[in-house]
Amino acid sequence: MDSEDEVNLLVIVVDVNPIWWGQQAQKQSQVTLPKCIDTVLVLGNAHLFMGRNNKLAVIASHIQESRLLFPGKQWKSGDLSAEACILESNVSGSKDGKYELLTAANDMIAEDIKDLMTKTGDIKGQQTETLLAGSLAKALCYINRIHKESKAGQEVKSRILVIKAAEDSALQYMNFMNVIFAAQKQNILIDACVLDSDSGLLQQACDITGGIYLKIPQVTSLLQYLLWVFLPDPDQRTQLILPPPVHVDYRAACFCHRNLIEIGYVCSVCLSIFCNFSPICTTCETAFKISLPPVMKAKKKKIKPMF
Ligand SMILES: [Zn+2]
Ligand SMILES: [Zn+2]
Repeated sequence: MDSEDEVNLLVIVVDVNPIWWGQQAQKQSQVTLPKCIDTVLVLGNAHLFMGRNNKLAVIASHIQESRLLFPGKQWKSGDLSAEACILESNVSGSKDGKYELLTAANDMIAEDIKDLMTKTGDIKGQQTETLLAGSLAKALCYINRIHKESKAGQEVKSRILVIKAAEDSALQYMNFMNVIFAAQKQNILIDACVLDSDSGLLQQACDITGGIYLKIPQVTSLLQYLLWVFLPDPDQRTQLILPPPVHVDYRAACFCHRNLIEIGYVCSVCLSIFCNFSPICTTCETAFKISLPPVMKAKKKKIKPMF
């Protein structure tokens, strides 16, 4: 197939959990959200530069919503060319010799992330976890749309890169696994770049879809890792010497308490997982026949005749 007809779509999902980033700011950590967004912009620009047909999407994963930062709302559906994007964002020519599409993309992302972070409502008492499963689902929907809108005979290769900051949420286990298997079915690769604590869910996602999971040793060099490990597409990766694969934490979360367990009870009908035995499955309400050990009838003692 002619490489001109090949579209490479990269969807970047950035964890913008305001609580986690707020903690980093309090700790005066060297990594801040604006810096992280800057590195995402550089990666996005580099990806768009790699090929004329390359496409980019950026999704912010917040604790209240998942928002498509780029292409933004101004984007007319059905018209996904770079030229349309430039027109929509009102960039009048290139001021500094920079490719207009990049200026348009960067402005759109920066503006939308500002809007999202300033509109964050009162987060007390609400859930504090990043809605990562929802963001991944949104990414899959977007990819599906691009596939449908692509020209006949055009091959679209899509992958998702998750930049993960906050802790995993076992509450999202089911949704997360559903998204992973949907991605696997569609041949969509999921990569993960983890800034803080390891994520068992993302390890599974990368392992199942054939992506790379990397917990970066130094957060300050985020950009270098992004450009080295995650910019090359899967075909080029075979020629690179990349960080070795990690040990995958394949524990599942039980449906009753959301604890991660290694051994548990699985419903034979709906495959729900439980850490304790219960006679009725709480998901599908199947009643199980309990096979208790056979009750031994007390043997009647033969009364021996005394004489
Ligand atoms: Zn449980
Ligand atoms: Zn069941």
